[in-house]
Amino acid sequence: MNSPSGDTAAPDCGHWIGDERRHCRSGTDVHRYVIGYRCPEHTPARLAGRPEPQPGPGWPVHRTEDPS
Ligand SMILES: [Zn+2]
Repeated sequence: MNSPSGDTAAPDCGHWIGDERRHCRSGTDVHRYVIGYRCPEHTPARLAGRPEPQPGPGWPVHRTEDPS
């Protein structure tokens, strides 16, 4: 459906784990980002030390004061 033509293989995480000198290759819950496929442990936000942007309710909003 939404996969590029010729790409029939299941995507896996392409993050390079320098300490282990290997790619992650996790195929669990992999999503496509600008930099490629990443598992939840290696998303751009995660690697940058930021919380993952979450759609929908339940995510704490950064609010230090009430604008009222
Ligand atoms: Zn990974």
